[in-house]
Amino acid sequence: MTSSVSDGVAAEAPSAKAPAAAAAKSAPQRAMEKLGLRRDIDLALHLPLRYEDETQLTPIAEARPGDTVQVEGIVREARVELRPRRQFIVHLAESLEQGANGAPGRRRAELVLRFVNFYPSHQKTLAAGARVRVRGELRGGFFGPEMVHPTFKAVDATTPLAASLTPVYPTSAQLPQAYLRKAVASGLSRAPLDELLPARVLPAGLPSLREALNVLHHPPASASLAALEDHSHPAWQRLKFEELLAQQIAQLQAQRERRKLRAPALRAAVGGLHERLLAVLPFQLTGAQRRVAEEIAADLGRGEPMHRLLQGDVGSGKTVVAALAAAVAIDAGWQCALMAPTEILAEQHFRKLVQWLDPLLAERGQGIAWLTGSRKGRERRQMVERVASGEAALVVGTHAVIQDDVRFARLGLAIVDEQHRFGVAQRLELRRKLAGDPEGAQDAAGRPGALEPHLLMMSATPIPRTLAMTYFADLDVSTLDELPPGRSPVVTKVFADNRREDVIARIRDEVETHARQVYWVCPLVEESENLDLQNATETHQHLSAALPGRMVGLIHGRMPAAEKAAVMSLFSSGDMAVLVATTVIEVGVDVPNASLMVIEHAERFGLSQLHQLRGRVGRGAVASVCVLLYTGPLSQTGKARLKAMVETTDGFEIARRDLEIRGPGEFMGSRQSGDALLRFADLAEDAPLLQRARAAAPELLDKHPAAARAHVSRWLGGKMEYLKA
Ligand code: ADP
Ligand code: MG
Repeated sequence: MTSSVSDGVAAEAPSAKAPAAAAAKSAPQRAMEKLGLRRDIDLALHLPLRYEDETQLTPIAEARPGDTVQVEGIVREARVELRPRRQFIVHLAESLEQGANGAPGRRRAELVLRFVNFYPSHQKTLAAGARVRVRGELRGGFFGPEMVHPTFKAVDATTPLAASLTPVYPTSAQLPQAYLRKAVASGLSRAPLDELLPARVLPAGLPSLREALNVLHHPPASASLAALEDHSHPAWQRLKFEELLAQQIAQLQAQRERRKLRAPALRAAVGGLHERLLAVLPFQLTGAQRRVAEEIAADLGRGEPMHRLLQGDVGSGKTVVAALAAAVAIDAGWQCALMAPTEILAEQHFRKLVQWLDPLLAERGQGIAWLTGSRKGRERRQMVERVASGEAALVVGTHAVIQDDVRFARLGLAIVDEQHRFGVAQRLELRRKLAGDPEGAQDAAGRPGALEPHLLMMSATPIPRTLAMTYFADLDVSTLDELPPGRSPVVTKVFADNRREDVIARIRDEVETHARQVYWVCPLVEESENLDLQNATETHQHLSAALPGRMVGLIHGRMPAAEKAAVMSLFSSGDMAVLVATTVIEVGVDVPNASLMVIEHAERFGLSQLHQLRGRVGRGAVASVCVLLYTGPLSQTGKARLKAMVETTDGFEIARRDLEIRGPGEFMGSRQSGDALLRFADLAEDAPLLQRARAAAPELLDKHPAAARAHVSRWLGGKMEYLKA
């Protein structure tokens, strides 16, 4: 990929912004914060995606088409041409003597630089007679070799070549590469990087953290680019080890603290809610569901707080496992809280649990409460009272459930659904909130706060079980590795956007002939919610016109919650045929009659996100289709993602390919960065380092507690702050 940002232009950005900076944060500063680049150490740990080699010059005559090279020369001629389109054309010669008046018959060492987008600064720097250094991919053009939109900078005959490879950082549209480079370099020079780890815990042969970061940001010209790029270089190994170690220490610490706590021993009652729920379920549990439910029940029956992760692919049936765990807690006379990341998802759970459990609870004089951020005033007060009195045995909602004014009479179990974005820091935060509820639990003697609730987390991010067990030092892991019977796998098709009308014809058929329902997902554009909305609104109008007499709905992130819920319930009930949505439907929504999912601009989504979305169809016995519409040209990784979607529906395989395609370093924007469990290390590839880190964590905590604390804060401190924001 050729960079279209010329160094000459972009490098002006930092100083140009300086006067405004005193009054307000500049756009690049805000963009840096958005990427979580706040502290010097955050900048020092913001690593290059790749490098450009500006340490060498290739003589113009020796450069071959297809090569990406740096050359130096003198501008023989520069002019703006208007045909065939407006462009800026520069003739660059190795030297002037060799240029236009070169000896006849001798090969002219000259190339053309072509700029379709250009600014006055281009013309100024690339004026006739100027000596410039240029970097780009050489192509064979009509008039001989040329570079399109190369990077360039003015030099004189004595300007030294770069001594190290030039880093290219992950960034966003508002943050010019040159600005970020300067910020990282100064962050790196200021960051306190003194050695914290005793040599004996470190794997042999690795550089210090400071050396490693210096190499990774500014590799010497002699460094192996291949080892840097595939992250096998010792500098990378050091970084990965550091990261894994921080995660392991944090988890071990949490585990030790948890071990000191006690929880109520929860057991299902004979003839109680648990048994009766099993009897009313409209299906048989799968073998995996039965096994996992037993693992959870065994934890609940012990007097120490459960801390378990239930992982299972989309559609594997985690909800019913959660309901069974809730029933055990309620049987034992305790309350259960079930939290979901969005209101819509919480509402789905609420409906399902009401259907399964409400009649059974009503017989016992109990009920289910529903708490979300949008519930306010009297209604909220009533709910909060029911929770406080214990009448609400089950409390379902968003994270509003653990807000400060909510007091449980006897919270015995907290379940968090779809926590596939949780990192260590987030998990610790959640536990802190739960433990912070002073009246939440009482021990037999009535001492408040002496008992801690059990915690069950559910996630659709599949990590191979053995790896998950090694990595999650403070979590027990249960895996649902079997889908309920009778599912027909979703068939995935990829179409270019110009086939949109064919896709709409397919929708008509699905809706008119088969009475099925359809999702149409529009992408979220990070930069502009307005654009998203416009896109989704237009699609909604277009589909409404194409399907007269059918209800076509629209749902997006900025709608009031009540409106969202109303739209969702029309879709769930089957009254609405087509639902146009921004990615608010991303997780967990369950409408078995929906058989077609269209994802627009599929190239803009991450692989795991596409997989999650696709999981919304194929939830019944109906054969379902997922159509990925893309707008070209596709990048290599874009192509690989769509191909993976066509080739497999297995979440574990998708996760594996995702890592392979992105490489551990690739950055997908702040929205998704919270997704990644680890920034640098790759659980599968770095299993040996993970083992070392796991072994080193207890030694550090026991023998060097201050170093252990400093290390965790260095690595997780910024993230913790980021999460609070
Ligand atoms: P997820 O694991 O993605 O949260 P859900 O709990 O939403 O999956 O379950 C997906 C669908 O499968 C739901 O409609 C649910 O009622 C149904 N389901 C769950 N378990 C079974 C089972 N054992 N047999 C048949 N259907 C099931
Ligand atoms: Mg779910």
